Amino acid sequence: MSQAPLQDGSISAHSIAPAQVIRGSGAWCEALPSVGALCTQPLVLGRSQATENLRSQLCRDLTERGLTVQQQLLNHDCCEQDLQRIEAASHGLGCDAVIAAGGGKVLDAGKLLADRLNVACITVPLSAATCAGWTALSNLYSPQGAFMGDQSLRRCPDLLVFDHDLLLQAPARTLASGIADALAKWYEASVSSGSSQDGLIQQAVQMARVLRDQLLIDSVEAIRSPGGEAWRRVVDACGLTAGVIGGLGGARCRTVAAHAVHNGLTQLEDCHHVLHGEKVGFGILVQLRLEERLGGNRLAAQAHRQLLPLLQTLDLPVSLNDLGLADASLRQLQEVCQFACRDGSDLHHLPFTVTPGALMEALVGAAETSPVTS
Ligand SMILES: [Zn+2]
Repeated sequence: MSQAPLQDGSISAHSIAPAQVIRGSGAWCEALPSVGALCTQPLVLGRSQATENLRSQLCRDLTERGLTVQQQLLNHDCCEQDLQRIEAASHGLGCDAVIAAGGGKVLDAGKLLADRLNVACITVPLSAATCAGWTALSNLYSPQGAFMGDQSLRRCPDLLVFDHDLLLQAPARTLASGIADALAKWYEASVSSGSSQDGLIQQAVQMARVLRDQLLIDSVEAIRSPGGEAWRRVVDACGLTAGVIGGLGGARCRTVAAHAVHNGLTQLEDCHHVLHGEKVGFGILVQLRLEERLGGNRLAAQAHRQLLPLLQTLDLPVSLNDLGLADASLRQLQEVCQFACRDGSDLHHLPFTVTPGALMEALVGAAETSPVTS
């Protein structure tokens, strides 16, 4: 989704934040009156077996408050087939809200469904892997999990319930993934919007820098001590602050090569077990490589040296090998590069030309440390 830079004084529409955010330990119970004020017949949307018990508890809580609850399950990532099936099933049932409870793809599907049904949207993230609970944007995938494109929504959710007790039950791997995705905000926004003359975008970019600094300081401790102070700061950073940046900065402040590499990697079946942020973290390393090698950017080499050990400490993939692509064929890797370099890809927000061949080199060498030059 590439757009022309904003001209001074031109009009832009913003969906900056959910109408209400309730966060912290016990946020879900605290939010029940707000949920009841938004709807009487919510559709609760979820997906994985791992979160089934949590969703059942949410449904019981809603029923006890006198709400009529219907549940729907996704079969795939946020994909058109699932959405159309559930949209058709919900017609005539009088549902007046979608409550999406799960990871980023469930939240994306729930937001899009609520947008299409024109009903209230409530997001309940069950991991801190994503800021999807916050934003007015959904990513669409094929039933096989290949990235297809993103879709802007009319508004951010009406209510985001960010319950730390629920997030605490998610696997540590999802938080590490969220950290990588949130770190990408700085590396991408500073490239796509670093020279913007628009004040709001300048402020969003600076917020991305502060977010990065906080993650550099707190991430390792957060993973080490779930539920502790650093953990609370980091889940809020990944699930909320990352969303603020997307909301303030808008589409022009979003993604560059790190996410384009992610989108390319989703084209490979062999990579589907790898989480969104895990692919994006690898994508940041690739982007920094490109900036260094093709853009002659020395700061990028320094950033790469700083980031690589952190990603490794967090057990995040830093090489094709780590991504499960050790045995990938040249053709498969070419497919990744072709997709990432296709016309209209966010990769082209880099200030220099990237060919699929150059990208391939950066993919293969993502984890190589470059020598320190003075
Ligand atoms: Zn992302």
